[in-house]
Amino acid sequence: MEKHKKNQTKDDQQSSSKGSHTCSQKHLNQLTEQLQLDERLDLIDHKILVLSGKGGVGKSTIAANLALSLAQAGKQVGLLDIDIHGPSIPRLFGLEGQVLTGTQDGLKPIEYSENLKVISVGFLLRKLDDAVIWRGPLKYGIIKQFLKDVEWGKLDYLIVDSPPGTGDEPLSIAQLIKNADGALIITTPQDLSINDVRKSIEFCRVLNLPVLGVIENMSGFVCPHCNNRIDIFKSGGGKKMAESMMVPFLGSIPLDPDLVTTSDSGLPYLFRYPGSETAQAIQRALLPIMKLEARVPDKKEEIVTRQNINEDDVRADDGKINIAIPLVENRLSAHFGHCNEFLIAKVDRASGDILKRKLVPAPPHEPGMLPSWLHDQGAQVIIAGGMGQRAQQLFQQKGLTVVVGAESREPDVIIRDYINETLTLGENLCDH
Ligand code: ADP
Repeated sequence: MEKHKKNQTKDDQQSSSKGSHTCSQKHLNQLTEQLQLDERLDLIDHKILVLSGKGGVGKSTIAANLALSLAQAGKQVGLLDIDIHGPSIPRLFGLEGQVLTGTQDGLKPIEYSENLKVISVGFLLRKLDDAVIWRGPLKYGIIKQFLKDVEWGKLDYLIVDSPPGTGDEPLSIAQLIKNADGALIITTPQDLSINDVRKSIEFCRVLNLPVLGVIENMSGFVCPHCNNRIDIFKSGGGKKMAESMMVPFLGSIPLDPDLVTTSDSGLPYLFRYPGSETAQAIQRALLPIMKLEARVPDKKEEIVTRQNINEDDVRADDGKINIAIPLVENRLSAHFGHCNEFLIAKVDRASGDILKRKLVPAPPHEPGMLPSWLHDQGAQVIIAGGMGQRAQQLFQQKGLTVVVGAESREPDVIIRDYINETLTLGENLCDH
């Protein structure tokens, strides 16, 4: 009896020490994973979740165009699509069929452009039906892997396109990204969708996730023939709901058939129709997100600001010049302060070749803002149709060369003529 008791104690001791070993090993693994996750996320300035109460309201479309706007504005952007049951980001960017590859440092995101990296669960699924077998813990695991094991590198923004509702995926992402800037919530004007979005707002509150704002999509239809607005699903509900829930309302985007065709063709809408009414509505609604303040760097941390990137650029690129041209519908805009976007082209002074070009949506029209903004974009010369004296002085103070009186022509022709010193200059139409 005594012996049995003694043996039992020894066995117990063995099994308990084995148990504690397993337990501490598990704990150690969890800590290591958490550290790896924190290290990756620390390199990302802003993390934004795009949510909706129900499917089909345009959440992925807006997430894709937000990522593109930010990239066009010169930000380093990551777009993460965790919609396991209906990943649509690959289709929106024409990236279907792409396969993720890995190195020993992690998975490599697909590079849509120099500064826009994309990861979608769609790159892992061979057929959509695969998603059916994914259960909660597996979903959590894959989402964690997309944050921890993907070589995102240093990003200004990570935009996460989450599935609709308040299920496993939004919950996982909100728990994994502890210091997200907040959620952008998309709704349509119908009552059902708005009721669903209330639940999304409650969900954010429970998780302490700030609501950056609500966008009402498919809000009215502007007839392309008569230009009259028809409120197919009513409109204004999103605004009222946002007010009653005390969250910011960012704006409404109309129903636009071109949004469907561009989505299906794999060319994001803002890329295809940069100056349209709908593009302007999208950009207005997204402006507060575009203007989020840069993270305050830790003392020890070396953050490279846009300004010193540009100064380095200029010093390193001897013989090259950055020329900015305000555009409307791909031609120089006569009304400088009211253009839709700017082309900023890096040009070889000797050959006149355009080495690099970026299209950047114009910032809001605020007096005195453009000179600093274009300087921060790296512009050294601004070619305009008309420009007031005060604006010219401000540009000159920022070290930019100002050329006014250019005709409303295609930017490539203007750049060629400027480099060849054959640019015809007329009257400064805005000399007030
Ligand atoms: P969600 O991510 O909410 O499920 P999607 O972004 O996939 O929604 O959009 C669903 C469909 O609605 C797509 O075909 C898309 O092109 C279309 N769509 C989105 N926004 C608009 C809009 N403002 N006007 C017309 N069609 C739109």
